Amino acid sequence: MQFISTNRNSPSVSFLEAMRGGLAPDGGLYMPTEIPKLPNSFWLRSEPPNFQEIAFQMAKPYLIDALSDEEIHSVINDTFNFPIEMKSVGENQFILELFHGPTLAFKDFGARFMARLFSEKAQKDQQEVTILVATSGDTGSAVAHGFYKVPGVRVCLLYPKGKVSKLQEQQMTTLGENITTLEVDGVFDDCQKLVKEAFTDPDLNASMQLSSANSINIARLLPQSFYYVFAHVELSRNGRYDPIYSVPSGNFGNLTGGLLAMKMGMKADSFLAATNVNNVVPKYLSGSEYKPKDSIQTISNAMDVGDPSNFVRIKTLFNDSDSAIRSLLKGYSYNDEQTRETIRELYKKSGYIACPHTAIGYRAAMEDQKLTKRDKPYVTLSTAHPVKFRDVIEPEIDREISIPERLEKWLKREKKVHSIGKEFKPFKEFLMDF
Ligand SMILES: *Cc1c(COP(=O)(O)O)cnc(C)c1O
Repeated sequence: MQFISTNRNSPSVSFLEAMRGGLAPDGGLYMPTEIPKLPNSFWLRSEPPNFQEIAFQMAKPYLIDALSDEEIHSVINDTFNFPIEMKSVGENQFILELFHGPTLAFKDFGARFMARLFSEKAQKDQQEVTILVATSGDTGSAVAHGFYKVPGVRVCLLYPKGKVSKLQEQQMTTLGENITTLEVDGVFDDCQKLVKEAFTDPDLNASMQLSSANSINIARLLPQSFYYVFAHVELSRNGRYDPIYSVPSGNFGNLTGGLLAMKMGMKADSFLAATNVNNVVPKYLSGSEYKPKDSIQTISNAMDVGDPSNFVRIKTLFNDSDSAIRSLLKGYSYNDEQTRETIRELYKKSGYIACPHTAIGYRAAMEDQKLTKRDKPYVTLSTAHPVKFRDVIEPEIDREISIPERLEKWLKREKKVHSIGKEFKPFKEFLMDF
């Protein structure tokens, strides 16, 4: 299977090359040249497949040139060693909890899968890879945990000093081993600038194999299609078909994963693109032109994106047909007050505690159900554990949310971090003796 840039202006490459490159040389995002279909027999099995089997069947056509079946199995078993849960919160309303991984957000799926694949590649090439990541928090902790102790890979994370949450900082800075963290005296953009400059620096590139692990990486996208099929299988087991997936969205990688699953043969009724007031995509879906904007800060901050990077992938999946996209996707967007109200009401009605992102997805599902009166199952993807947003949630539900025991230990661990300024030279020197 070959991968090609959405800009169609650079050569097609293998999966491992697309993963190592991150962004294509022409600035586009990698997509498979064709979307493989799951065999009919997959959907007709009398014994429904579990998540690992689903992941294997879906990953194999993409990885077949790069890894043996045994290697794919081992990547999947190491990556997805945490549960996914589906909760019923009302008539035809389900919540798919994707936050039971080590950093309590759905980003663990993509980050861990990519990390294991990088390790396979480093072992095959017999060359150590150095991954540079600029992060504003969530991605950094998922990536750090994904790559922790992975052989053949070193990770250098850069984050803006004092601008990430305590738990995120602890989860990034206390691992040690192959994970190094730098706190930069600046903002997120300064971190990103340092990383970009490193990639174009001839001395650094001559002395080490640099790679990135940002959210547009194809290796992070693929596993985000697996859990849609898992939900589909779980529902059909109970005689429910044609789900409507409601996806709380920022850069739209998660939703793109769902569309990919559908193109691979999964039957879905449609998808809801649920956003906060950063509503570029819902506006486009309701008929206006796609117009990127500066992002606005909200309480669902992992979705504060004004120009979603994966939108171009969605366009490519539908051959740039706006009408095809609009007939399958519907947009909903909510402000902070509506988000808070939804957290309160869902808790009052069913005792369920949703993070602000999940609450936005659930509200879209509820409103769509009310509006269209369809007798179909709604599946809201839950993207983060509520404890990550306890400051926002606790005042609404008037009770405390406790930290899972396995996380509490991070708060007690010793932080190891190097401080740097935002100039390139000291960063380069640091990497040269790294
Ligand atoms: C990253 C993130 C999102 C948005 O996902 P996209 O794939 O960027 O659309 C939503 N919720 C949480 C908690 C996230 O961390």
